[in-house]
Order: sequence, then C-alpha cells, then structure tokens
Amino acid sequence: MLIHVRELEVRAARFDVEIAPGIIDFLDSELRQTGPLKARGRAELVTGALGEIRVSGHLAVDMEAACDRCLEAARYPIDTDFTLYYRPVSEGYGDEKEIDAGEAEMGFYEGESLELNDVLREQVLLALPMQRVCREDCKGICPQCGRNRNQNECHCQVASVDDRWAALKELK
Ligand SMILES: [Zn+2]
Ligand SMILES: [Zn+2]
Repeated sequence: MLIHVRELEVRAARFDVEIAPGIIDFLDSELRQTGPLKARGRAELVTGALGEIRVSGHLAVDMEAACDRCLEAARYPIDTDFTLYYRPVSEGYGDEKEIDAGEAEMGFYEGESLELNDVLREQVLLALPMQRVCREDCKGICPQCGRNRNQNECHCQVASVDDRWAALKELK
C-alpha cells in the first residue's frame, strides 16, 4: 500500500492490513516471516513540519531466525505498538548526521509517496532483539567439537584465559 503525501494533506490515511510471508523482503536471508503480518494504524502529516509523516499503529507477526549462538531456528513473536517518522529526502533535511539520538526512529522517503511495507519492515527490524538467541541461557556450539551444547553436554577442555596467562608466565 502506497501512502500518498498529497492525500495526507487532506486527511490522515488509515490502514488495516494482513500481509502473507514472502511479500516483504527483510533484506536479511537469515530472517523469515512464519505467519501473517497484521498491522493497523494511521499515517498523517506532522503539523508544522514540511512533508514529515508520522506512521503509528500496532503490528503483530511471528519471525524466525537462526540463534546467534547455537544456530538452531529461534522464534521471535512481535506484538507491539509503534510510531515512526519519515521526512522527504529533498526538503533540505537529507543529511542523516543532523539527527540527534532522540530522533533515532526517523526514516526518509523519496518522491510523493511512502510504501507502507517499507515502514512495516523497518518496525519489525527495530522490534527484533539486538542479540538473537533462542533463549537467555543458550549454551551455544562447542568451539572444539562443534556439538550443540544445549542438546549434548560435551567434555571438551577449552583452555580458559587464566590458563593461557599461567602458561605465558611459565615461559619467563
Ligand atoms: Zn541457541
Ligand atoms: Zn565439545
């Protein structure tokens, strides 16, 4: 769905969409959408800011990605309210460096319209945890034998940092 700036000048645009997996490209081959993405909300122009669009609403979707530690598929259900801001690239705003930390959720759009699917992708990426792990205490893969340590406890001896320091001291 395209959000047309000209139409927002007349009134806010409402959306209520259900998007099947495969339609939004998350630009990350590790990341999969495993169910319909449901989003509803509104897009409106921010008063007094030239062409700035605020998109707010609610988004729910189940995502799946490989765990950073054990590489098993891990599920990330997202169910969140959101507000994102978009500025036109052309109105002298362009330079991303001018944006301070408080405006981190600021994006840009080119031309006369904003693609809702791009907004939803952005929000899904923001809602995912920085570190994608299947669970807090995931033990990961053993660097020695390559076993998933959540499934099999191996008995490899991994030299700790302290041991290596001790070995260095003995060399002196
Ligand atoms: Zn894991
Ligand atoms: Zn091992």
